[in-house]
Amino acid sequence: MIPYSWQQKQAAVLHDLQQQERLPHALIFSGSKGIGKADFATWFAEHLMCTETGMGACGQCQNCALIKNESHPDFRNVTILKDAKTGKSKQEIGIDQIRDLIRFVNLSQAGVSYKVVVISPADALNVSSANSLLKLLEEPQGRTIILLVSDQVEKLPATIRSRCQIINMSAPSTEEAIDWVNSQEGFVGDAETLLKLAQGAPLAALALAEELSDGTIDYNGVITDCLNLMFNRRPGVFETSQSWQGCPIKALIEWQLSLSRDLIRLINGVPKRYYENQDKYEALQKVRDRLNLSKVLVLYDYLTDIYAKTDAPLRPETFREQLALRWKQSL
Ligand SMILES: [Zn+2]
Repeated sequence: MIPYSWQQKQAAVLHDLQQQERLPHALIFSGSKGIGKADFATWFAEHLMCTETGMGACGQCQNCALIKNESHPDFRNVTILKDAKTGKSKQEIGIDQIRDLIRFVNLSQAGVSYKVVVISPADALNVSSANSLLKLLEEPQGRTIILLVSDQVEKLPATIRSRCQIINMSAPSTEEAIDWVNSQEGFVGDAETLLKLAQGAPLAALALAEELSDGTIDYNGVITDCLNLMFNRRPGVFETSQSWQGCPIKALIEWQLSLSRDLIRLINGVPKRYYENQDKYEALQKVRDRLNLSKVLVLYDYLTDIYAKTDAPLRPETFREQLALRWKQSL
């Protein structure tokens, strides 16, 4: 079984190459973030290591068992490490890691199948580690296959790219992505909206759903920020827009739209049960008399308009500032 249904074409291409014994010694799995490239690379690595001949790993043979225990002598996974002192992820794949890798590749092969290396994310190679890897790519070693995973293939040095075969991985259709997100265990939420926010990438949409549920991206914080701006409380436009940096623009506008709709309900005396921000109802009642319907309507129209047009603004910082400023001017 391939990891995701939308990867069948790529799996078939690789299978054909392998059947014809034309598998290149280095491949780059390229495509946007959050579509499952790394899982695909792992799947393909396991497929290559397995001694059975079918599609994917059998999960039963000795090689599969070793892979499962992360103890296969012919497999290496190179990724960004954590700093031993701070416990935080480092920014890059360092030269030491590639030197280690070269030693590993030069060791004689333990098993009869392939020796496989996965480097993910390959964009994290710095200049010296990329140069070091290049030497390895220039001198292919027997049945060694190097799999690189990259969101930004254009960032890899041309010398590396030219020595690898690039496999373009694509996102599923909107319909397939919605079905997939909805079918994930424990998922609750609006798959369509999350996918829009994640530019159609299903795994990214799921990660966003988790961030929203564990409060990493703070819906409530944004709503409070908007009210503070409106009523001239601290912090100001600039600081507030800065604090919105981690929030996707689409989500930001959508949340602000929900508040603006509630403000219109408030001015019109709509009962509490119709509010989107139920927990803000009491606080909003206190400011009702200070609101100006025509200004709130202008704000609402503005937000609706930009929500429809804005997928990825050219200058997100300026854009966030304008959003904050709008709230400040809407009383
Ligand atoms: Zn197997």
